[in-house]
Amino acid sequence: MPDSTGLREIFCKSALNKTGIPGYQYCLNPYGGCLHRCSYCYASFMCRFTGHKESWGNFLDVKVNFPEVLKKQLSGRVRKEGRVILGTVTDAYQPAEARYGITRKSLEILAAYPSLEVHLLTKSDLVARDLDILQQLQNCQVGFTITSLNEKAARILESGASSPQSRLTAARQLIRAGIRVWVFIAPLLPGISDSEAALNSLFASLAQAGVQEILIDSLNPYPAVVHRLKSAYRDSFPQLLPELESYLYQREFYTDRIKARVEGIARSYGCRPEFL
Ligand code: SF4
Repeated sequence: MPDSTGLREIFCKSALNKTGIPGYQYCLNPYGGCLHRCSYCYASFMCRFTGHKESWGNFLDVKVNFPEVLKKQLSGRVRKEGRVILGTVTDAYQPAEARYGITRKSLEILAAYPSLEVHLLTKSDLVARDLDILQQLQNCQVGFTITSLNEKAARILESGASSPQSRLTAARQLIRAGIRVWVFIAPLLPGISDSEAALNSLFASLAQAGVQEILIDSLNPYPAVVHRLKSAYRDSFPQLLPELESYLYQREFYTDRIKARVEGIARSYGCRPEFL
């Protein structure tokens, strides 16, 4: 049973799993569920595979034996080369990671295998705690998802994640320490993160932090995502709801217009972002 904070300690049978994600051989997910609570989360469908009655965002399975299982798998006959990605179904830097250190221990184990290239994507500044280990990994890459620098929007739409400013600070710290860092601006939220002002502020901050690699994706309108976002807009940003609706009904037109806007603004800060 999860405790009152949604945490449940579980034991896993496998830690290093093969993945079909293009460019990667293995994935590692030290946690199940996610307490970052993003309203636009595409992974919420995972709920049905976890056996949890709680809704997505309200539980976290902590795989307490994960490092032990990983060590055992890697000492066996598994091929110890290729790219490993951490956190494909949920962020590997959950708030509980500060206490459990499962991701940290997993990175320590991976550091003993220089032919494994470790990549991770997070919404947490906690990754900076592990800078000493990240520096020991060969060709390690860290991605930070930053959806918007608007603190009110972040508090409402990704209420359990680190603030966007603290993610930026962590990104800067990693870059200064020689880690390859990229930023994923996703999803672009109509009316919140796609205005001239919002994009200018974001690209200015990214340039200041020294981020050079930027990937952008617009919102994928899965029905559950649209339902949650509409409700959040209605409650907290009612004046922006027409922008979300207009995006949902005219996606192609929106995408062309926003792409041109993003490219123009990014260019003025010396960035050349890629669109998914
Ligand atoms: S951090 Fe990722 S997995 Fe977690 S709620 Fe947000 S989008 Fe979903």
